[in-house]
Order: sequence, then C-alpha cells, then structure tokens
Amino acid sequence: MTSRTAAISHVGKIRANNQDSGYAGAHLFVVADGMGGHAGGDVASALAIQAIAHTDRAFGSAEEAEQALSAALLDANRELAETVFEHPELTGMGTTLSGLIRVGDKVVIAHIGDSRIYRWRDGELEQVTKDHTFVQRLVDSGRITADEAAVHPRRSVLMRVLGDVDINPEIDTMVLDTKPGDRWLLCSDGLSGYVGEEKIAELLAGIPEAGAAAEALVAESLDHGAPDNVTVVLVGVDGSDSSAASAPMMVGSASRPLTFEVDTARRGIRLPAILLHPLMTSVAENEHFEPESEEFLRELIAEDRRRRIRRRITWSVGITLIVALLVGAAVLGYRWTQSRYYVGVIDGNVAVYQGVQQGIGPIRLSSVYLETDVALDDLPPFSRQTVEATINADDLQDALSIVERLKRASD
Ligand code: CA
Repeated sequence: MTSRTAAISHVGKIRANNQDSGYAGAHLFVVADGMGGHAGGDVASALAIQAIAHTDRAFGSAEEAEQALSAALLDANRELAETVFEHPELTGMGTTLSGLIRVGDKVVIAHIGDSRIYRWRDGELEQVTKDHTFVQRLVDSGRITADEAAVHPRRSVLMRVLGDVDINPEIDTMVLDTKPGDRWLLCSDGLSGYVGEEKIAELLAGIPEAGAAAEALVAESLDHGAPDNVTVVLVGVDGSDSSAASAPMMVGSASRPLTFEVDTARRGIRLPAILLHPLMTSVAENEHFEPESEEFLRELIAEDRRRRIRRRITWSVGITLIVALLVGAAVLGYRWTQSRYYVGVIDGNVAVYQGVQQGIGPIRLSSVYLETDVALDDLPPFSRQTVEATINADDLQDALSIVERLKRASD
C-alpha cells in the first residue's frame, strides 16, 4: 500500500512563523504563500484556503471545475479585502495561491503568484504554472535569462496576488491531461527558490511513497538553509477516480485556528538564527509584493538597468585593476631578473650574462653582457664543466671576479 497524496509545511530555519498554508483533500490540492508587511501573511493564506475548500468535490467535467475554482479564487480575494476592511491593521496582506482539482484523467489548475505546480511524468519534471513575478516579466521580454532571474535581487517581487489591492485580479487557469504514474507537485517558493528542478526530479523518481517524497523535498530545502517557509503538496495519480485522502489535510497556518491578533514580537525574525545565517538578506525581501502597475514596472526596469550599468562599471574597473597589477608584477619581475648575472659560454669563450638562465616559453630573460677572450678549451676540465653548466654570480662584481679566476686558471 502506498499513499498517493501528502502535504507538509515547515516554518524553515529563519522565520518565526509559518505564513504558508497547504491543503490536500479528496479532489482539491492547494498551496498558498501568505505575505504582508507587519502582519497578516498567515491570515491571508489560511483564509484563502478556507474560502476555496468547498471546491473539494467531484465535478461532472473539467470545465465545470475550472469555473468553480476560478470563481472560488475571486471569492477568496473579496474575503481578504473584507477582512482588511474589518481589521485595518492587516492592510497589505496578500497570498499566492496555486490550486489543482483532479477530474478523472484531467487536472484543473488555477494560479496566481509565485507558488508553483509541477508535473512529474516519466522521470521528467515540468513547471506548468508561470510565476507572476517581476523577474519573470524580464525573462519574458528577453531582458534577462532564467538563470539570471533565479539570483536576481528582486526575484521575490510579485506582480499579482490575492489580497486587498485589486478587486478583480487576473487568475491563470488551465486544464491538463493526466495519467496513472503522474505526480503533481504543488510548492511554495521556499522549495522552488532553493532546490533545483533536477534535484526535485531525482527525489521524486527515487521515492514512490508520497509522504516520504514530500518529507525528502522539505528536508532538501532545510539542507539549503531554508530561509523561507517551505510547503509541499504531492498528488500521485493512479487508476482510481479520486485521490481519496481519508480526511482533508491542512498544513501550515491553515492548520491552526485563525486569529487576527497582530503579535509583532512573534512575527519578528529570530535573531540568533539570522546572525548565524548567511542568507539573511533574502528573508526581508520575500515579504514584498506590489500590485501590477505600469508605473511600478517602469521604475523596476529602470532600477534594473542602473544595477546592470553599475555592475558593468564594477567589472571593468576590476578587470583594469587586475591587468594593471599583472603588468606591474611582470615589470618588477623582469627588472629583478636583469639585476642578476651569471657566467657561461658564447662561441667557445667565457662570457658574462645579465639576467637569469631560465626563460618563459620562447622569451629569453638573459643577454650577453661581456664576451671575454678566455677560451673554454684552455680551461682545466673541471672548470670547463662548471662554466658549461653556468655559474651564478651575486652581482656584476662577483661575475667579473669569477671570470678573473678562470683567466688565471687558463694561463
Ligand atoms: Ca515564500
């Protein structure tokens, strides 16, 4: 017996509270990643999941499920706005939401934000949702590559979420085929932002049991430092009609009773952890989301351009400095070699050379300084051998006195 669905949510290693929520029911599966300045992220994701949980039922067709799920997301958006109206201290709260309903051999998906849904099929992992982020916009318009997006300082800026900002946010929906053996992975960016797709695919391929696979995925994120909350919902498809969890599983903030109290102390970041963690800077930026507006987009693009120019300048200054240092070192090195002398042979006569015997590739680092009239053949055999092997001198004076001694020996 293998269980086919699993849901796990972990607070991570840095954050003080879990603002993610996850849901795994009989037909519906959801991940929501809440956010909001001083408060509200956990409220937002939990509220949103509660608001759409009624779509966890059998639908007659995928189209019907698609309509219901899309409408439920808009209802959730309205409910978030109403909650903010009643609790103004929650202003600015919002949540991503990626939901999936299985209808026979189809899955229906509704999505907003940067949580992700992947399909794993025959060992291949494919991201089926598109991130509603600023960097994804830059990738789409060809300004940066996907690799650059993954490390971009603004990678967590969201362009669309459910919240109190837009009364009619644009929600992506799609209907996709599924077949026995497929696994659908829903996750927050606490997983996808820190664990590569290759590693995710490898873990899914190696662990058939859903609970163990979900645990391994979360553990992998923890191994990478898990600066953010991590939520994983895994759905395995087999021949049966529903994915039949006994009772719906709620994880993360959706698993706790909802409270609207703003506890700033609890929502702070645990200091000792942040002091120990090198990725601390990525904690604050995850809190951020912005409504989609052309003005804001233009501002971000301008900022991105400035950043690229700064980086280019930094690079060229750096490279110039390195070249200057290398040239400087070469000049100093050459000068040093030219302060050295040795005694050797030229055309059968003893000679004083300036420089060192060694060369760099084809470059010789020595030249004849003085050719004497002392013939090599006139030297005793031992002296001849040492001259042929060259004799190092401390300086020019030393070299000349070596020549003097050799001259006496040849007489
Ligand atoms: Ca997150």
